[in-house]
Amino acid sequence: MSINIESKLPNVGTTIFTVMSSLAASHKAINLGQGFPDYTMNDELIALVNKTMKDGNNQYVHMCGLPLLRERIAEKVNRAYQSNVNVDTDITITPGGTYAIYTALTAILRPGDEVIVFDPSYDSYIPNIEINGAVPVAVSLRYPDYSIDWDVVREKINPSTKAIVINSPHNPTGSVLTQSDIDQLKSIVEGTGIFIISDEVYEHLIFDQKEHLSILRYPELFERSFVCFSFGKVYHCTGWKMGYCIAPAKLMTEFRKVHQFNCFTCNSPAQYALAEFLEEPAHYLQLGNFLQQKRDYFRSIMRDTKFEPLPSYGSYFQLYSYAAISDESESEFAIRLTKEAGVATIPVNAFYKTPVDNKVLRFCFAKKESTLEEAVNRLVKYFG
Ligand code: GLN
Repeated sequence: MSINIESKLPNVGTTIFTVMSSLAASHKAINLGQGFPDYTMNDELIALVNKTMKDGNNQYVHMCGLPLLRERIAEKVNRAYQSNVNVDTDITITPGGTYAIYTALTAILRPGDEVIVFDPSYDSYIPNIEINGAVPVAVSLRYPDYSIDWDVVREKINPSTKAIVINSPHNPTGSVLTQSDIDQLKSIVEGTGIFIISDEVYEHLIFDQKEHLSILRYPELFERSFVCFSFGKVYHCTGWKMGYCIAPAKLMTEFRKVHQFNCFTCNSPAQYALAEFLEEPAHYLQLGNFLQQKRDYFRSIMRDTKFEPLPSYGSYFQLYSYAAISDESESEFAIRLTKEAGVATIPVNAFYKTPVDNKVLRFCFAKKESTLEEAVNRLVKYFG
């Protein structure tokens, strides 16, 4: 008898990031698709990992994360967001932000629960919801500024609504939540049992003097929230897969029940090194400026093409409309660009529950200037 597996995720294929990175590699394209820097991370941080390994810090640390690292995180966020996060009960170190989001959703969801997600949104949220037997309910962001229509959110709320997933700065669009968004969110969840999953992995990658409105700033939101962060984005080491989740004790207790039998505890040397490195705020406080310069440089050289930029106030990403260049679908155009022009991007429809064809591609500008220049040269040459 042959073995059959009935897929728990029948509508899910391979993530677009892997698809486009593989296509880029096989066509020697410049990869502005998947979001990761191509510049080096800080040598001091590398040396700290090396040193701590030589010092013998190579065994399991506490399942919630190295206590010193949690202390440093509490100091950091309490200073930055005027919060009152508890070191012992509210923080768990995770293998990346994506894992933190999955674990939070798994800790709270039961079959039939509804979760509000925005369309477009990061591609892991919907599969994370579905694998738990829950139902994603999409609310479209308004094109072209990708702002939230809170009246539509209100219409979708019902007794089955278990959670809302928010993400600011937003992947893939680079939009950021404003004070009025926060006020709307507060009034919508007040008096309900709705949880909030807040994906804040791009907290420091925010531009144009905008301020990151972390959920940690608002006690009435934090009491119902799992807030997810990433060290990879902060220290240019996405491949380390290190992040953390912050939630109030009652919620974190449930999060840890899932975490302890999945990953149990994360890479120890990285935690020792990060604990020491976090002491110096300058490392992350200059990130906004650093990435804003890259965004601005990329936008300035892209003026030599017919691509039209959409607003981006944060993240690694800049969206461009190619409506003035081609009628092809986003996927067709992104594939042609990779194979023929030698530049890989991400078609934005990959981030939609209900795809729309706005003719928009996502470009990652977290790259060396020389990489960005070479990519734009290729586009200019290809389109003539
Ligand atoms: N967060 C990265 C992006 O949006 C990709 C991470 C991944 O490939 N899973 O491009």
